[in-house]
Amino acid sequence: MSGIRRPFNFSAGPACLPLPVLEQVAAEMSDWQGCGMGVMEMSHRGPQFQSIIDAAEHDLRSLLAVPDDFAVLFMQGGGLAENAIVPLNLAMRGKVDVLVTGSWSAKSAAEARKYADVHFAANTEADGYRSIPSPSDWQLRPDADYLHLCSNETIDGVEFHELPDLDALGSAAPLVVDCSSNQLSRPMDWSRVGLAFGGAQKNVGPAGVTLVFARRSLLGRALPHCPSAFDYQRVAEQGSMYNTPPTFSIYVAGLVFRWALKFEYLGLRGLAAIERQNIDKAALLYEFLDRSSLFSNAVAPSVRSRMNVPFFLREPALTDTCLREAAAAGLLQLKGHKSKGGMRASLYNAMPIEGVRALVNFLQDFEIRHG
Ligand SMILES: *Cc1c(COP(=O)(O)O)cnc(C)c1O
Repeated sequence: MSGIRRPFNFSAGPACLPLPVLEQVAAEMSDWQGCGMGVMEMSHRGPQFQSIIDAAEHDLRSLLAVPDDFAVLFMQGGGLAENAIVPLNLAMRGKVDVLVTGSWSAKSAAEARKYADVHFAANTEADGYRSIPSPSDWQLRPDADYLHLCSNETIDGVEFHELPDLDALGSAAPLVVDCSSNQLSRPMDWSRVGLAFGGAQKNVGPAGVTLVFARRSLLGRALPHCPSAFDYQRVAEQGSMYNTPPTFSIYVAGLVFRWALKFEYLGLRGLAAIERQNIDKAALLYEFLDRSSLFSNAVAPSVRSRMNVPFFLREPALTDTCLREAAAAGLLQLKGHKSKGGMRASLYNAMPIEGVRALVNFLQDFEIRHG
């Protein structure tokens, strides 16, 4: 380890990666483990890359305790492409239910409409995406092909802290989860999931690879016009190598999985340590926001995101000053999403709690000087 101290990077994605991973990538850039080639230069069909993707899948499965009856796929196209790929694979009856709890699930619904009849099981837009209605109030269609939800709304800062049990709600539809911005941040209750997907660039690795976790019983349902490269069954049969996979992104993601498995915090290790630190980081920031007279977050406390914390200044005119001073203090990429304004701190796994302490100290000091 070089011991470099870098600024803290709060980007919503592409987002910060663990420094030891970046350093290993740099060290191996032109010669991966003495084979005389960098990972970007090797055939995806060769033994070196096969060992890289096998290790990545193995470590990912053990990190998230993915059951054997789920296929793990490394795909391309990001979360937005999955909004089309999922209905092309699962909407056999052409009926898709969507829970709209923020900007990303609203986009998923709009895209699914190209392929299916879309029904909102609930929609919190009128409330400004600040809450999640109780499952007993959702309107689920008995013959829906699946129910889509976004487990963490990256823009609005709304997170499901528990996935719904659709069986218990009397629905036989599989649950599809867009977990782009909270995958790997906490355990996943696989017993409630039919299919989950997420782009890598929030919490997993570089942009370019999309993780898909598909219950094997849902494979083989693709519509005839589904592109072969996006047919989950075909991709699964070919070990994510129907076409050339995003090899470099998979390699870096694999190093992140290995880093996460060894991560330690307060005597915990692996995903338990990561989740504990994520809980502590989010609590530090929300506690500050709730006692601040200048900054605030309006999301209902029970559904506040651990990963993405949007917040606003009582004096919006001060936002640019705050962003400028934060950057000068080594706190980068805190600008809110363009659709919302304000500020947003993303607290993905690679953000240490020291970064959140530094952020809270900075905001506190800013409030004293400008409040
Ligand atoms: C970022 C994001 C997406 C879109 O991801 P792309 O990789 O840009 O397609 C979709 N859903 C959620 C929840 C996201 O955070």
